[in-house]
Amino acid sequence: MLQCTAVALLPPDAVLRLTAPGADRPEDPEPYVLCELGTHDDQRTEHAAYLRPGRTPDSPALWFFWTGSGPERTHRAESSPWCPAVLRRLDSGLVRRCALFDHHTAAHSWDVTDPLGDLIAEQFVSGDSPEG
Ligand SMILES: [Zn+2]
Ligand SMILES: [Zn+2]
Repeated sequence: MLQCTAVALLPPDAVLRLTAPGADRPEDPEPYVLCELGTHDDQRTEHAAYLRPGRTPDSPALWFFWTGSGPERTHRAESSPWCPAVLRRLDSGLVRRCALFDHHTAAHSWDVTDPLGDLIAEQFVSGDSPEG
């Protein structure tokens, strides 16, 4: 399944909230977010982009949800628990957790192909993500 191609400009209030003093992990948020779901019905299903982690790796993370585009767009930013699904690879014994929120639509993250996102990620991510 290919990744949904929706892109949204983050509203100023969301950016402000992310950069507000006292935030436990101040980072410059990307002004644009990409929908991370697999291709889905964008009339009935909200687009969703991961904004920032929770206090621990298991805590609900902050997600940005939106529907529509341009002046029709509605959005919300809210904490969502992680999808509990895990993928166990029998050959290597590796366990991979779904990187999406609970009750997401479409495919789990390991079934979503995002060649462009991988390219972009390579420029920002060097090595493993930090632990807490
Ligand atoms: Zn989408
Ligand atoms: Zn999932």
